[in-house]
Amino acid sequence: MAITHNLGFPRIGARRELKFALESYWKDQSSRDALKAVGAQLRERHWKHQARVNFVPVGDFAFYDQVLDMSFTLGNLPERVRGFHGDALDNYFRVARGRSAQAADEHVACCSGVAAGEMTKWFDTNYHYIVPEFTAATNFSLDATRLVTQIAEARAAGVNVKPVIIGPVTYLWLGKSKDDSDRLALLPKLLPVYGALLDTFAAQGIDWVQIDEPALVTELDAKWRDAFVTAYDSLSVRRVRLLLATYFGQLQENLELACTLPVDGLHIDAINARDELAQAAAILSDTSVLSVGAINGRNIWKTDLNAVLAWLEPLAKQLGERLWIAPSCSLLHVPVDLDSEQKLDAEVRSWLAFALQKLDELKLLADALNNGRDSVGSALVANAKAIHHRRTSLRVNNPVVKAALARIDAALGQRHSAYAVRAPKQAALLKLPAFPTTTIGSFPQTAEIRHARSEFKAGKLDTAAYKAAMQAEIARSVREQETLGLDVLVHGEAERNDMVEYFGEQLEGYAFSQFGWVQSYGSRCVKPPVLFGDISRPGAMTVEWITYAQSLTNKPMKGMLTGPVTILNWSFVRDDQPRSVSCRQLALAIREEVLDLEKAGVRVIQIDEAALREGLPLRRSQWNEYLQWAVESFRITANGVRDETQIHTHMCYSEFNDIIASIADMDADVITIETSRSDMELLDVFDHFKYPNQIGPGVYDIHSPNIPSRESIVQLMKKAAGRIPAERLWVNPDCGLKTRQWTEVTPALTNMVAAAKVLRSQLL
Ligand code: GLN
Ligand code: ZN
Repeated sequence: MAITHNLGFPRIGARRELKFALESYWKDQSSRDALKAVGAQLRERHWKHQARVNFVPVGDFAFYDQVLDMSFTLGNLPERVRGFHGDALDNYFRVARGRSAQAADEHVACCSGVAAGEMTKWFDTNYHYIVPEFTAATNFSLDATRLVTQIAEARAAGVNVKPVIIGPVTYLWLGKSKDDSDRLALLPKLLPVYGALLDTFAAQGIDWVQIDEPALVTELDAKWRDAFVTAYDSLSVRRVRLLLATYFGQLQENLELACTLPVDGLHIDAINARDELAQAAAILSDTSVLSVGAINGRNIWKTDLNAVLAWLEPLAKQLGERLWIAPSCSLLHVPVDLDSEQKLDAEVRSWLAFALQKLDELKLLADALNNGRDSVGSALVANAKAIHHRRTSLRVNNPVVKAALARIDAALGQRHSAYAVRAPKQAALLKLPAFPTTTIGSFPQTAEIRHARSEFKAGKLDTAAYKAAMQAEIARSVREQETLGLDVLVHGEAERNDMVEYFGEQLEGYAFSQFGWVQSYGSRCVKPPVLFGDISRPGAMTVEWITYAQSLTNKPMKGMLTGPVTILNWSFVRDDQPRSVSCRQLALAIREEVLDLEKAGVRVIQIDEAALREGLPLRRSQWNEYLQWAVESFRITANGVRDETQIHTHMCYSEFNDIIASIADMDADVITIETSRSDMELLDVFDHFKYPNQIGPGVYDIHSPNIPSRESIVQLMKKAAGRIPAERLWVNPDCGLKTRQWTEVTPALTNMVAAAKVLRSQLL
């Protein structure tokens, strides 16, 4: 009998109920009790949905973030919030985002306005967690209330409960030491609290506990590997059974360690590590459970159930009762229910599975294993049909695109001349002053713009009226920029709601869901477009807007595009070909746009690669391979232009010390990056690495409403000029301005332009 279980369920709700409840509470439009009630309803609904599997996760729900929940459970709150009073949920939000609701809170004065917790990416996903903070003096104390309450709720909902917690080693691994102390030194203080938590579970009559240790799929040095041994030796004496869960990758050199820890079961992500299953089965003790993550918890494709059964059946025979099956990881990373989708193209829809459909697939696999394939024969036939249809569809396979891909050669990504030859030609054409000023692309998305777009989408505004509204907005931003005295202008991106969706909607091979939301952090969700087929570009996507903008000014107007790597990394991508292939297809499509812009007389073209760094694999040993095809894709996109055309790229993060050589390899003429928040510290990298081309280190943080002073900008740029020759520096903000108000943008850019004048007079 194969047992089924689930590792975690999306908490946001099929209609983003949690998002709306949170935001309404934070805006003082609803009560704390109303918010708590929405949380309880969602948990109950989700448990009932999951009742079709044998063990259901409890503890995966969080009002903001599961790692922050764990910090509260372990009594590990940052020093700065120690004195907080009042309601626990409010304190939780203060740690998460600096403040909770205001009106209902008697503690606004004493407890609000702290720094929000630092957020970072959860492994290689687009989910962001609140980083646990440690110092040498950190102590832990158990608060199991949340888990105990939810266990009772889940039982009342009639499901078989399996609590889910983050394991002690991964918990430390995820955190940051605030005083440079060794966070592993805290393990002896942490383990008794975990022990007490397990005892609490035992007292509740819990049998199995899922303890997540995804750090095991990363490269660990000896002391971290030893920590696993210490931790689980200490926890193994407790009266519950532990299922150690790993996911997001292969265990590789940690496989033996994971298989020999004194736990009762091990979960392996078979999507990434199927070839490790046999070895794991051989090493595990003959009483240990092997849980196989057979269904992809990260993508939205239907599983090829017959293909999975072909390799799963022998394993089931070998392991019998000891085989568990599950999704590869928590379903947090996929939308809830495909049945919500009413507008999705029927053909594409028939290829997809969201969280609920994935649980159905899991049940089907278990039935086939336990009662024979015939017991679910017709479902397997239907599944095979859908898989076959997708594999052979002409919308997925476009021979023209495949042929174009086969023609890619080394010359395609090569500029005609080296930077040293191009730069003077561009300078002669553009006639820019030293320290040229520019912005990153978007200007404020005003209420009017958003209104016009939604009316247009709803069919209430016709194309001509919509176009007129967008052109009026473009004209306004051009006027503003001329008044400000900026040197290289942008059209402002009024027509784009999202820098990936805008292009996806115009490319062949993309589909869009209505409710395919995935939590990014807190109440923030994204709806990644679905890249399902070979990519082609039926027509120009941006040329009309950019040439209109250029027609309004004599200053150079930047063409504005999203690069192939970013489009790829922010989409649900195909599982039937390598990411590198999809990326090259995108590169060819965006390349055509670049060339069309150039043909239309655009002299400066920016290709944003905001998400290039995000795509780095978890293991460093795999970085090179990724960087090679990512950089190649960018080069294919950008480098078909004449020497005179200036290529910009933009990256909105600061840590690229470790990938600077690849960034330089992209060979953009100008790169704009985020630096102001690190006080230009990131430019340290240029002490060692002679970046050959031009750089615009962002001079102010666009995430903050604060207006940067002229002096602060001059100071930052002087720091930059200490490392990069002044004649290769640009002056620009950190990122696009679409989330700001014009009342913030105008004074900020006024100071930025004034600072550039000071720099020209003082540094040249
Ligand atoms: N051009 C985009 C903008 O200005 C870049 C956004 C980004 O880097 N995230 O909005
Ligand atoms: Zn950016």
